[in-house]
Amino acid sequence: MEKRELVIIGAGPAGMAAAIYGRRAGLDVLLLERGATGGQINTTEEIENWPGVQCATGPELGNMFREHALKFKTEIRPAEVKKVQLRDGAKIVVTDKGEIEADAIVVATGAYFRRLGCPGEAEHIGQGVSYCAVCDGAFFEDEEVAVVGGGNTAVEEGDYLTKFASKVYIVHRRDEFRADRAAIERALSNPKIVPVWNSVVERIEGDGAVEKVVLKNVKTNEVSDLKVAGVFMFVGQAPYDECVKGLVNAAKEGWILTNDNMETSVEGIFAAGDVRSKHLRQVVTAASDGAIAAMGASSYINEQLHLRSVLLEPESVTAFFYSSIDANQAHLSNEAEKLAKSQGKKLPIIDGYKNSRMAEKLGVSLPAFVQLHSGAVTKVTPVASEADVAKALA
Ligand SMILES: Cc1cc2nc3c(=O)[nH]c(=O)nc-3n(C[C@H](O)[C@H](O)[C@H](O)COP(=O)(O)OP(=O)(O)OC[C@H]3O[C@@H](n4cnc5c(N)ncnc54)[C@H](O)[C@@H]3O)c2cc1C
Repeated sequence: MEKRELVIIGAGPAGMAAAIYGRRAGLDVLLLERGATGGQINTTEEIENWPGVQCATGPELGNMFREHALKFKTEIRPAEVKKVQLRDGAKIVVTDKGEIEADAIVVATGAYFRRLGCPGEAEHIGQGVSYCAVCDGAFFEDEEVAVVGGGNTAVEEGDYLTKFASKVYIVHRRDEFRADRAAIERALSNPKIVPVWNSVVERIEGDGAVEKVVLKNVKTNEVSDLKVAGVFMFVGQAPYDECVKGLVNAAKEGWILTNDNMETSVEGIFAAGDVRSKHLRQVVTAASDGAIAAMGASSYINEQLHLRSVLLEPESVTAFFYSSIDANQAHLSNEAEKLAKSQGKKLPIIDGYKNSRMAEKLGVSLPAFVQLHSGAVTKVTPVASEADVAKALA
């Protein structure tokens, strides 16, 4: 089977940044993409919040990312990842073009906005129809816009849009919002916000750019026109999480949970960008996540190489395994290290919390001295006190 150091799934801003950082850290990087490189930004006409580039089309920016990743000799391969699996501790990326074993993986598969599905929506994306207030709000200075939805995102983003728009109609199918009370109060006390209750969008019309939405009142069936220059759809966003569903821990609706280092619940698997459970889904935050994930992957791979060389390759070795998040175990590890040094003994100290897969693979409960012969465990001596440590080292 093909074996690579770092496999990145998804060539959007997060995956591209991970590739650049991974290659610059000297890793062998394979970037897998099932569609066009660049990710979601390919669908937008104007990006003006990526620092250093005052304005570019999405495809232009995506192309710059691609060129940058290629400059550092990233291998970009068209392939769809069907599943990521763990087999005997090995991480296997199953694609439509074969299987790849990876030392570390960055999942950067992104997310998508749910469409409303009404006539005129698809034709006007980027021409007045938007799914992101932070991305496109500033293009509607002193114009009237409509927001579709009634949950937290619709109400909060509607409020945000009043920084630019002269009036924001929030079109909702019910007669009250489903958002938090504080968000509702803030929105309803904003003079620029006009709720349009019990209404749904029948269609969006305009010659090129959006000119109006046609609304239907669901109580009276009355149809009316609302003249607006923009329509912001907030009917939901969802992650592309299928390939790691059930493998890594995720929040409601599948958003992948990570810590600040982009580590998922599975050692050696990182997540970056829009697919993560996070507050702000933008190019700049995706790229930042990708950089952090790649550096985390690089440390992880080096650590695994180090572990292999100190534990599995020597003919005979005794190591001390402990958990760095347990104060008593951390204390015992210090004692063990000091005592071994005073006796002139070589004693690798292994953080079994950070390297839980290695501890699991060796069948070690923490804290313990572990004797290995050619990579196989020959003796495990559990310890609970300084006296146990001294006895084991005697
Ligand atoms: C219309 C629009 C306008 C926007 N405007 C702005 C803006 O002005 N400024 C801004 O900062 N942000 C903007 N955004 C948001 C921005 O595009 C995203 O935050 C950013 O692209 C997220 O990057 P990502 O790499 O996490 O994911 P994505 O860009 O979604 O990239 C993920 C990639 O993974 C690939 N992929 C998914 N699953 C698989 C699989 N199983 N196998 C292989 N490949 C897979 C996808 O094909 C995709 O290319 C906009 C988004 C949209 C839709």
